[in-house]
Amino acid sequence: MPKSKSICPNCGKEGVEAIVKRGYLGHATSRISSGSKTKYFRVGESVKIVSGCYICGKTLKELIKINNDGKSSHKQRIRRLKDAGIPTRIEG
Ligand SMILES: [Zn+2]
Repeated sequence: MPKSKSICPNCGKEGVEAIVKRGYLGHATSRISSGSKTKYFRVGESVKIVSGCYICGKTLKELIKINNDGKSSHKQRIRRLKDAGIPTRIEG
């Protein structure tokens, strides 16, 4: 897997090395009364940071922690929205 420069989750500059799996466009066909409808959805790319940042000096460990903190707070936000009865599904 080739490594490429990626955005540092701490300083937002291209100072880290990461292994990037490209996203792709998927589709699903659903049958409705007037025929069939194809929905497209984007499968997100995944970025795995494999080095510290040479710009802000954060180590790999610190960057992974920052990434995980961001993910968990995002999940909490979605859970709060669901509790409030707000649909979180995004139609594309
Ligand atoms: Zn940085």
